Amino acid sequence: MQHTVITGANRGIGLEFTRYYLSIGHQVTATVRNLDTAQELSALQAENKHLTLRVLDISQSSSIAAFTEQLGNKPIDVLINNAGYYGPKGYSLGNIDVHEWQKVMQINVLGTIELTQALLSNLKRAQSPAKIAFLTSKMGSMGDNNSGGSYIYRSSKAALNACIKSLSIDLAPEILVAALHPGWVQTDMGGANALITAQESVAGLASVIDQLNELTTGQFIDYSGKLIPW
Ligand code: NDP
Repeated sequence: MQHTVITGANRGIGLEFTRYYLSIGHQVTATVRNLDTAQELSALQAENKHLTLRVLDISQSSSIAAFTEQLGNKPIDVLINNAGYYGPKGYSLGNIDVHEWQKVMQINVLGTIELTQALLSNLKRAQSPAKIAFLTSKMGSMGDNNSGGSYIYRSSKAALNACIKSLSIDLAPEILVAALHPGWVQTDMGGANALITAQESVAGLASVIDQLNELTTGQFIDYSGKLIPW
């Protein structure tokens, strides 16, 4: 049975990924910042013995250490680095708050890579090449930036993309890596006007992850399989 670890599984795309991987028979470790507010996951766990819930705040090194210790040597076949933070909306050039910027960088870049690094030995224990999927964003693309603004979020996802590219080179062919843009998705982050549901996004992303191979590792790709310019 394959084992998938999903961060930020409390709501939105992470929760949908959890439902999806359980539905195809994976053993899923879903991480949340606070178990007390994880009602939907708790209900899912009550009816599915293959779901394990764990506490993880990727912005805290101590939380990453506690999580990896709980996991022990358990192999990981798929790691979905989904947890992310947009930061407060409404900042534009002239009033950017660097403390908020640091917070977003800590979650989207430093914490995401710190966790990935901590789980490498588990990923290397997978039977066939393990896969790491990063939920990044088209907002981190230089080639796709025609509208400016969003300094905080854009720079965090651009920095994440640089790390993903290096990981894909450093870890091939033992571990395969994908930089994924989920589309504009109806979640707390995406808002009600977003174009697609979390179900549509995850169905597409899961197919991209499933098809990931030695030739396609390191690509920046959206939920429909379309390549995104870096
Ligand atoms: P949501 O804001 O709906 O959910 C974000 C999730 O990340 C929550 O479960 C949240 O936990 C968790 N999280 C936030 N900070 C931390 C942290 N420090 N440690 C652990 N978990 C944390 O976002 P989406 O589901 O929409 O987005 C998921 C990913 O997709 C993100 O990386 C996002 O940047 C990316 N993305 C989303 C798009 C969209 O249109 N929605 C577009 C492009 C990219 P909690 O519930 O405890 O707050």
